[in-house]
Amino acid sequence: MSRTKRSLPPVPPEDKPDSAAPAAAGEALDESADGAGQGAAVRGVSAEEIAQDIATAIVEKRLPPGTRLREEALGKVYGVSRTKIRAALLTLSRDKLIQIVPDRGAVVSKPSVQEAREVFAVRRVLEAEVVRLFVAQARPRDFERLEQHIHIERTTLEPRTSVGSAREKLLGDFHVAMAECTGNVTLTELVREMVARSSLIAMLYPSSNDPHCSSDEHEQLLRVCRRGDTAAAVACMSDHLQRVEASLRLDAGIPERQLDLVKALLS
Ligand SMILES: [Zn+2]
Repeated sequence: MSRTKRSLPPVPPEDKPDSAAPAAAGEALDESADGAGQGAAVRGVSAEEIAQDIATAIVEKRLPPGTRLREEALGKVYGVSRTKIRAALLTLSRDKLIQIVPDRGAVVSKPSVQEAREVFAVRRVLEAEVVRLFVAQARPRDFERLEQHIHIERTTLEPRTSVGSAREKLLGDFHVAMAECTGNVTLTELVREMVARSSLIAMLYPSSNDPHCSSDEHEQLLRVCRRGDTAAAVACMSDHLQRVEASLRLDAGIPERQLDLVKALLS
């Protein structure tokens, strides 16, 4: 996974309710600041690159959950217009890494333990249906596609490099790919959203699982599907999701360390 080398300078996270200073400080930074801003360390950077850079900062906990992302401040950091920043934020909000809150702007998502459990409960229901449809109608090329995906998981997810979003995305993509094979677009969209939210949850409450456990389980699921045993395949998927959820440190809450990071960014 190639990442932009640039590292995001500290963005003042205005997450203290009493520091709701009107955007006055940043108002001066409007479209005309594009390319002219003093602090414009990086030029010609695309909205996608900015989104990727912020996503990396979120995954690496430099921008902890709950951090407010101000368009003005980000525009200054990247030396681009607020329009471009807005496009980057929209991408991140589609991926559920941030939330756009009315009157508050963009905030790094912070799924609660309750929400995390709800997401997995919903996934079990949705993906049971995915498995039923898959067993009923999967063609040889669908099996080939998923087998190929498992092969990529195995060759890409080396223990030392499989951290953060890349690992979660790859493992999550298997579930999305299986949903796509059913041909039910609406179901696939729902699965895609739930998988994206699961990825953020896994970043917040890191899994103690070896990624290869998940690959093994994906492989086993596929074997059961091949046999055409719908009930066993549904049980297999349900057990897999249960194990993924159980491996997350949901009971530990969000590490206190992250709150210290916010203070460090503010100082
Ligand atoms: Zn999985």
